[in-house]
Amino acid sequence: SADTDALTGVGNRRWFLAQLPRASWQGDCLIVMDLDHFKRINDRYGHHTGDQVLVAFADLVRKNLRGGDSFARLGGEEFGLYLPRTSETQAFAIAERLRRAVEELRVASSGQTVAVSISIGLATASGAERSWEALFNRADAALYAAKRDGRNRVASDAEPAVSEPPAVILHRAS
Ligand code: GH3
Ligand code: MG
Ligand code: MG
Repeated sequence: SADTDALTGVGNRRWFLAQLPRASWQGDCLIVMDLDHFKRINDRYGHHTGDQVLVAFADLVRKNLRGGDSFARLGGEEFGLYLPRTSETQAFAIAERLRRAVEELRVASSGQTVAVSISIGLATASGAERSWEALFNRADAALYAAKRDGRNRVASDAEPAVSEPPAVILHRAS
């Protein structure tokens, strides 16, 4: 169908975008997931096994969704997850649980056993920001940070806590 990804059977990008409300609301979370070093999996095991890894990954995520969550293949080895009415803490826990489940996933294909990992970028809608484009950009930036920091991890776009400068500068007694 026009809404389904032919390989994995999950929704496609077009379907995913149609699931999103007109504007993001406070309490909406957007997650983007990208398989790590997927090109290496294709190079090492072949394109067919790569396809089977995508299918196994999509099945795993699908089994772990709550009612109301939307999961889709956005393209290539990139997937999106929309979590309505979810706190950042909850969304981070969900993402981390998925990351660990994928880490433990073993895909049997053509007599070989393949392991894979994912990097995850998470963006939480604030009351002020209503545009999906902005939320996607923040999730993508978080995903990029997760890749840069070593892959197989979850990164959130949340501002890092600002540490207070020390009130007193201590000098070593001479
Ligand atoms: P990174 O960890 O930085 O994401 O590295 P990567 O190798 O996953 O990323 P890159 O973008 O370099 O390569 C993505 C690969 O995914 C290249 C492309 O051939 C492969 N790919 C995309 N769609 C499919 C598909 O439907 N089936 C298979 N087997 N491979 C696919
Ligand atoms: Mg990748
Ligand atoms: Mg990619």
